[in-house]
Amino acid sequence: MQKVLIVEDEVDIADLINFNLQRAGYEVFKAHDGITGTEMAIQHRPDLVVLDLMLPGRDGYSVFREIRRDARTAKIPVIMLTARAQTEDRIQGLEAGADDYVTKPFSPKELVLRVHAILKRTDAPPGAVEYEFGPFRFDKNTVKFYLDNEPVDLTSTEFKLLLFLCERSGKPQDRNDLLRTVWGYSDEVHSRTLDTHMKRLRQKLGEYGSQIETVRGVGYCVATPHA
Ligand code: CA
Repeated sequence: MQKVLIVEDEVDIADLINFNLQRAGYEVFKAHDGITGTEMAIQHRPDLVVLDLMLPGRDGYSVFREIRRDARTAKIPVIMLTARAQTEDRIQGLEAGADDYVTKPFSPKELVLRVHAILKRTDAPPGAVEYEFGPFRFDKNTVKFYLDNEPVDLTSTEFKLLLFLCERSGKPQDRNDLLRTVWGYSDEVHSRTLDTHMKRLRQKLGEYGSQIETVRGVGYCVATPHA
């Protein structure tokens, strides 16, 4: 059973999410403040964290940074909950590297779909477990990525995006297809999610970052490596 940690101080909202996730078959843990949330993430190693940004004590960004900094929790996907009015929050959250975000008020059904999309995409497909592409090596089983045999810390979302592009190298991939494949949905607003992820991915790849090309009016493309 996959585990989800909810960090949300508003008890009614936490309970609502809890109810819907349990009904969808997830094991759920709840924390009502940031410090407990950070502790529970380390203790329970959930498969995903739903993290509210406005929290007493330690705010959502601090919790997020703690989760990403600690090697035991660094790869756990995080969905941020933000208030609709706080556009800045949303942008900051994405820049910080959240896997997805949901704005309040939200439909619990939609949140469950987002959770499902993110957890589904981190499952390794049966069959080929390792995939090599030029200097890149993907271990689909452990979701570990190597560049010239050196491990590079990619989040599961970055891993999935890069793998998807490499497996279709030489063919530009449409933004909407990328969004749908990786996040399970596609719309105008969330287009930004894709771009912030690509930006971070390029940074992490260093000199190989330029392998990911922006295709104007279409999306992104990874060039076929030279033999
Ligand atoms: Ca709150």
